[in-house]
Amino acid sequence: MHQPSLIRQAPSSIAGILNILQSSRTKAADLLLLQDIIAYMKNIILASTSTLFGGEYLAYIKEQIKDLFKGIDSIIFVPYARPGGISHDEYTAIAAAYFTGIGIEVKGLHTFADPKQAIQEAKGFFTGGGNTFLLVKQLHEQGLMTELSAAVSGGKPYLGSSAGSNIGGINMQTTNDMPIVYPPSFETMGLVPFNLNPHYLDPNPDLKHNGETRETRIKEFHTQNSIPVVGLREGNWIRVTGDQITTEGAEQTRIFEAGKAPYEVASGTILSF
Ligand code: ASP
Repeated sequence: MHQPSLIRQAPSSIAGILNILQSSRTKAADLLLLQDIIAYMKNIILASTSTLFGGEYLAYIKEQIKDLFKGIDSIIFVPYARPGGISHDEYTAIAAAYFTGIGIEVKGLHTFADPKQAIQEAKGFFTGGGNTFLLVKQLHEQGLMTELSAAVSGGKPYLGSSAGSNIGGINMQTTNDMPIVYPPSFETMGLVPFNLNPHYLDPNPDLKHNGETRETRIKEFHTQNSIPVVGLREGNWIRVTGDQITTEGAEQTRIFEAGKAPYEVASGTILSF
């Protein structure tokens, strides 16, 4: 054990850590302790999408992904959302090809005889998009939702895209997906104190389409629930570092809170509900 001479209480945010680092009295033992504390801080990216229109798989967010998984050489991929119905192996191969390019080995969670143990021993995680109902059903039926949540809350880096981001919220009730299967629960990991609506789409007044807008659907959610909803436009993401949650990306982020008019926040805004 290190013998801290300065830190009496673990800071819960980057700002707290910076305060300590800036102290002229910081000692070598404190710096070691800081490394330990940082290892236990949440380190999460919840991205709206894996691929921007006309872009390549996870290209728009590559630098952030490298930063998220810095110092890590292997992660577990959660393939259960199966976009377009592809197999777990096919989906894992897509993720593996991308991560090989940045020096990270990928193994599919479905390949482990004991997936709970695999989660406990993993260094980090990526959950890909697809159908959120399918993903949530699989995770709950195998008892893996709480396991994954505990591992990520304990500091293991987590990347979600789309359905993989939906499960970072409190529940999956603001997904855009069809209920193609029946999960035992809508509860998700609760890594952030709100729900997400990925691929958030603004109404297009030129479109002669009379179905509900995304905003209408989220407002309907708020007639029955009070959980805030973050509408993540394509190319935006949520960054969690310790207890700090920020909106990131090229677009503004649309926030829906029950009983309030929806509002926009700029990239870099700290979210606190
Ligand atoms: N189907 C989306 C995805 O690509 C999830 C969503 O839109 O809620 O994972």
